[in-house]
Amino acid sequence: MTSILLIGESDEHGEVSQSTLQAVAAAKSLSEPNITVTFSGDAPASASSLSVDSIVSISAVSNSDDGIYEQSTAEIASLVTSNNPDVVLLSKSDFGSLVGARLAFRSDLSFAADCTELSNENGALVVTRPVYGGSALAEFIVASTPAVVTLRAGAYEPSTETGSPAIESIEPQSIEQFAYVTDTVAETRDGVRLEDAGVVVSGGRGLGGPEPFSVLKDLANALDGAVGASRAACDAGWIDHSHQVGLTGKSVSPDVYIAVGISGASQHMAGCSSSRAIVAINKDADSNIFKEARFGVVGDWEKVLPSFLASVRELKA
Ligand SMILES: Cc1cc2nc3c(=O)[nH]c(=O)nc-3n(C[C@H](O)[C@H](O)[C@H](O)COP(=O)(O)OP(=O)(O)OC[C@H]3O[C@@H](n4cnc5c(N)ncnc54)[C@H](O)[C@@H]3O)c2cc1C
Repeated sequence: MTSILLIGESDEHGEVSQSTLQAVAAAKSLSEPNITVTFSGDAPASASSLSVDSIVSISAVSNSDDGIYEQSTAEIASLVTSNNPDVVLLSKSDFGSLVGARLAFRSDLSFAADCTELSNENGALVVTRPVYGGSALAEFIVASTPAVVTLRAGAYEPSTETGSPAIESIEPQSIEQFAYVTDTVAETRDGVRLEDAGVVVSGGRGLGGPEPFSVLKDLANALDGAVGASRAACDAGWIDHSHQVGLTGKSVSPDVYIAVGISGASQHMAGCSSSRAIVAINKDADSNIFKEARFGVVGDWEKVLPSFLASVRELKA
């Protein structure tokens, strides 16, 4: 049996997040899984029908408790001690990345970040994760348990199975507070979250300025997708850094990743190479992005994109 403590998250509508449903699917792929999902704060109502063994909500803890999730980290560390799971599974979200790393350090546990696949081999946990900036995938045997694992968004299809888990609520402990929020800045976004989007339309330096991002947005809207960007475009101030994809930006694994005027530097590919299909639009036939792309158009985006958008709209009409 593999016992898994899965750290669940809610989305902005108060539902179980897509990334948590993906983590449930990953957990269920392990041998004889016994899955406990814990939520910092009240579990979303939809958690009660998850296909897992139990739900533990830690009442009165908010996911944004102090900006570095001091309380959540302490609560989860206690649960790890009491439950002694084989795997502590988190999404590679802002919350999961921060809590996972701090939890592993504090509790002296093995840590595997940004994994795209989990499996068991001869009783050991095996994780797959991108290496060398996403140019290759490597399998690692996790030597000791409990192991803390973060899962890349989109690596698994969200679980759609239903069940009736046991539900428990525990009181938070009192902890010493080391950090406090002094200011918060809300990310402005309309439409689907970049990490959850099935289609991402990303723009790079080849766009030449901020205005073309409105064309990318039109295409993304037509495809029910989200807009991404290279660091060069973000650094130029053409679009907010919250759209940046790559090593120092967000990791995405959409069904389709459309790269417009992006050269395909390894640091950019680190954030999108696990996309199911990459489509490149670039005027330089020798650009590295064409080595990564399944489909490509060699041409000026100003000519290619409007007719592409018109065709998409025509097909959807
Ligand atoms: C530590 C570190 C971390 C980094 N992290 C990231 C990261 O997270 N994300 C990231 O993206 N980068 C990151 N970078 C930067 C990365 O190395 C590249 O510099 C960056 O990705 C380049 O962005 P780009 O492809 O938009 O620009 P360029 O490399 O300048 O490419 C522009 C492309 O547009 C094409 N083009 C030009 N005009 C047109 C046109 N009219 N129509 C069609 N195509 C056209 C060109 O042929 C070219 O291929 C990082 C770098 C370092 C050192």
